[in-house]
Amino acid sequence: MQIAKDSVVTLDYRLHLGDGKIIEETEPGDPLVYLHGYEEIVPGLEKALAGKKAGESLKVEVSAEDGYGPYDPEEVEEVPREEFPEDLELEAGGMVSATDEDGDEVEFLVKEVRAKTVLVDFNHPLAGKPLHFEVTVREVRKATEEELEHGHAHSPGHEH
Ligand code: ZN
Repeated sequence: MQIAKDSVVTLDYRLHLGDGKIIEETEPGDPLVYLHGYEEIVPGLEKALAGKKAGESLKVEVSAEDGYGPYDPEEVEEVPREEFPEDLELEAGGMVSATDEDGDEVEFLVKEVRAKTVLVDFNHPLAGKPLHFEVTVREVRKATEEELEHGHAHSPGHEH
């Protein structure tokens, strides 16, 4: 069957940013499983996969706009040092996960540690970058009722 809305798709992929250097890839035997049409993967890749079948391989170039979005300079902010937990190690170039006041997990890049403030970048690390995917479709099946209710695929080992 062809990939369409409400398909559960199993695929292997490799991702690079145009220079061929793989920055992300599925491990053998540990493919990506997603529910098509529910924005589980970046829009440009989802679009390119529509109509494909198991066994097909394709190369997909996704623009930043159809990937993780454009890089937004407004997302770079200077935050007072005391807003960070004291035991949190802050180092320029490091990615930090923290919980904001609403209890949501946020991830950001530390750009610079200053005397009283920290310059942080809340952009997705791949924002503003064209994405080059090499994808092989392994399996396509219809989603179960439960998957459609949840809006995501239930792969083996999936937990809530
Ligand atoms: Zn679920």
